[in-house]
Amino acid sequence: MLLKSISPCLSASSHLPAVASQWRTVLQRPRSFSVSCRRPIMEMSGFTPEQVMVREAVSKICSNFPDEYWAERDESGEYPHELHASLAKDGWIGIALPEELGGAGLGISEATMMLHTISESGAGIAGAQSVHANVYATQPVAKFASPAQRQKMLPKLIKGEWRACFGITEPSTGLETLKLRTTAKRDGDFYKISGQKIWISSAQVAQKMVLLARTTPLKEITRPSKELSLFFIDFDKTAPGLDLRRIKKMGGRAIDANEIFFDNYRVPADSLIGAEGQGFEIVLHGMNAERCLLAGEALGIGYAALKRATEYARERVVFGRPIGQNQAIQHPLAAAYMNLEAAKLATYHAARLYDENSKDSSITQYAVGVACNSAKYLAAEAAFTACEQAVLAHGGMGYAQEYHVERYLRESLVPRIAPVSKEMILNFVGEKVLGLPRSY
Ligand SMILES: Cc1cc2nc3c(=O)[nH]c(=O)nc-3n(C[C@H](O)[C@H](O)[C@H](O)COP(=O)(O)OP(=O)(O)OC[C@H]3O[C@@H](n4cnc5c(N)ncnc54)[C@H](O)[C@@H]3O)c2cc1C
Repeated sequence: MLLKSISPCLSASSHLPAVASQWRTVLQRPRSFSVSCRRPIMEMSGFTPEQVMVREAVSKICSNFPDEYWAERDESGEYPHELHASLAKDGWIGIALPEELGGAGLGISEATMMLHTISESGAGIAGAQSVHANVYATQPVAKFASPAQRQKMLPKLIKGEWRACFGITEPSTGLETLKLRTTAKRDGDFYKISGQKIWISSAQVAQKMVLLARTTPLKEITRPSKELSLFFIDFDKTAPGLDLRRIKKMGGRAIDANEIFFDNYRVPADSLIGAEGQGFEIVLHGMNAERCLLAGEALGIGYAALKRATEYARERVVFGRPIGQNQAIQHPLAAAYMNLEAAKLATYHAARLYDENSKDSSITQYAVGVACNSAKYLAAEAAFTACEQAVLAHGGMGYAQEYHVERYLRESLVPRIAPVSKEMILNFVGEKVLGLPRSY
């Protein structure tokens, strides 16, 4: 799994001049790096040279955006344009997109490491979300769009000139995606979109949306998974028929979340990806990638919280000794570490299955789905526990903004809820893996 040997594919970096030179340097260096004055909490043994390179280069970019930057953005709600621009400048937005489109041609294993590293830098889920949709929502487009569509849709996203948001969730259907109500009706050379989406991240700054909509009316449903279609649309907030409203939220406030209202919003017919009715099948490709990325983001925030907690526990002296000398403080942190390490194995195992599925026929779509869902569940739970323990280890100061762990705790709830809740993953594993009766 993580120990697989891999020959460095230097050609993959040919479109990334800044990154390529770092890569070559990394490959000649011993496999270690320093993110703190002590040994890094997260163990990097066994990762591939590509993943180590990603970690080093992305850590370097993120070091320009300290915790204070994220605390300020969380308070102001202002989008972290600077991080997105820095990542785009060095070619990171297209990390998992094909080289012929300007991407790096790497996989979800490396993209997961990128999001993990961004989150662990203190940027948290908010920092990761500033690029997240551009990485996973473009996966089904890269795989299922025609060559002409790909050329039109992806290079500007990779360069950072455009940003994409992902439109699936709806207020009236929630997790029951197959019942979604937003419709796309063919009208000559156009589709007219009507309906409502909710919780759409980054829609305020996005120029494009990857949209799942119904092309077969709900009342005519016969095969629910064959009646949705995927579109890559212009998201033109000045055009008639499109409106949005920002949602006030608990954490990750630098990234806007929105309700979107479509009312006969017109998009060209060639915005359709694949064939009508294939949308659900196609979007699953992006959803499995998203579960891996979110698992990586969860791990990042969990390790960041643990690092802060252990530093505080070493330094804070009460009753004449460091609080970390008390087992009531030390043991939960040690347990949180082991849970994160276990979730880390599950996460990079899932990402590897995702990447190798197309090359290795022994890896089934079912195995990929089980691994990606399990990884997201385990990483989200491990991260939440680590963040909670970090707040508790800080005592009263855990509640103070200046120690940042309260921000991490608020953000660590997101991977437990989205893109699929923990309950729905338990339902999926109970039914599909354990063969128990469907509970919903
Ligand atoms: C910060 C944030 C960012 C997001 N970004 C995006 C985005 O960019 N694009 C997008 O499309 N969506 C986005 N989402 C939406 C997210 O994917 C959904 O919130 C999530 O899928 C849950 O759907 P819901 O909120 O409608 O919950 P509901 O479907 O209303 O479910 C509510 C609760 O009931 C539980 N439940 C429901 N049915 C069952 C059952 N049968 N068995 C057990 N439990 C059940 C659920 O697990 C959940 O806990 C985002 C959400 C958040 C919070």
